[in-house]
Amino acid sequence: MTIPIQRVTVLGSTGSIGVSTLDVIARHPDRFEVFALSAATRVDEMLAQCQRFRPRFAVMASDAHAAQLADALRRHELGTQVLRGADALEQIAAHEQVDAVMAAIVGAAGLAPCLAAARAGKRLLLANKEALVVGGEFFLSAVREGGATLIPIDSEHSAIFQSLPEDPRTWSRRIDKIILTASGGPFRTRAPGTLCDVTPEQACAHPNWVMGRKISVDSATMMNKALEVIEARFLFGVTPDQLEVVIHPQSVIHSMVQFTDGSVIAQLGTPDMRVPIACGLAWPERIESGAQRLDFRQMAALEFEAPDDERFPGLSLAWDSLRAAPGTPAVLNAANEVAVEAFLARRLGFDRIHTVNLETLARVPASNPASLGDLLALDEAARACARQVVNQHAL
Ligand code: NAD
Ligand code: MG
Repeated sequence: MTIPIQRVTVLGSTGSIGVSTLDVIARHPDRFEVFALSAATRVDEMLAQCQRFRPRFAVMASDAHAAQLADALRRHELGTQVLRGADALEQIAAHEQVDAVMAAIVGAAGLAPCLAAARAGKRLLLANKEALVVGGEFFLSAVREGGATLIPIDSEHSAIFQSLPEDPRTWSRRIDKIILTASGGPFRTRAPGTLCDVTPEQACAHPNWVMGRKISVDSATMMNKALEVIEARFLFGVTPDQLEVVIHPQSVIHSMVQFTDGSVIAQLGTPDMRVPIACGLAWPERIESGAQRLDFRQMAALEFEAPDDERFPGLSLAWDSLRAAPGTPAVLNAANEVAVEAFLARRLGFDRIHTVNLETLARVPASNPASLGDLLALDEAARACARQVVNQHAL
């Protein structure tokens, strides 16, 4: 049987997920072709990716970076066309020649191109959880109306997706609850009173996963898990009460579904994002990912514990914001993006990230956003407020 080649756009190709995606694609030249790549600022990495994958388009965030890349491509006599800015991201996400879009931009900046891919009916591989947290029901209706196929790449959601029956119409009557696993990050056993002294280097040193800086900080506060609870609520249509988080330090079980008869189905694997990426690219087929296999004979115990509210106060904001007005997760996400950026710039203490999130949620009225314009306005209002709160608590 010959399989038609899938043409893939990778949004955020120079990041951790982007690089892993290209690694999987490179293993299957008979199945995938890179149509377009995008990056914010890393011109050298983008040039190397263009040399290797020969995409038709490469998008950079600014004029200056686009000009640098275009220059370099000319010197290397490569035919990739360089585009710039947010509109170009939507263009390469929705282009008629594209089959699949890997959404691996970090933050709400990835929402508009995700919506463009959804409306254009693409296979949308979603790593960019913030886009769904901000877009919520509005994002899902774009997927439905565009006839897109939304496949989660976040390892927990990929695990849940793989544990569920194929027909989504049966999910609501079969699912009892969804159990998201969390590693607990680098501070799982650190005394909560000492969290004010944490440095960006310590927060980014994750015990099990190598990831971008923003998600690494989110893993250390467990705001990553809060965003994932919200993400799961939208992806799988469950109520907030049906979502539970358990700490599992070994990151072998990537998440589980408990069904109405009490049976639990889990997905296991080594902590390597190429597994969910390969799963999403090939679904429902299975292809080589390049990841190491689990060796159960060498494995020590698998452990589980309840998350500690004092150490991880941000986790419960997921349920609070899902029970509040529909725009609330967007406000929480914006506040958290601003707070994490300030922490990484050493302007805010690690333990103040939660303060910024709480105070922004209290101050910004979350409406019921009905358009992309509404969502972006709410996102901007929350960022403006969060920046003020950061200034009040700045180091
Ligand atoms: P990263 O920081 O390594 O990479 C981010 C990519 O997005 C880079 O290519 C960067 O150039 C691009 N980018 C950043 N800001 C941009 C902007 N404003 N406009 C256009 N492009 C921009 O991040 P990552 O770790 O690869 O994570 C990407 C997304 O995937 C995040 O939403 C994260 O939560 C999610 N995710 C990551 C992992 C992981 O293991 N890294 C796991 C699960 C989910
Ligand atoms: Mg995850």
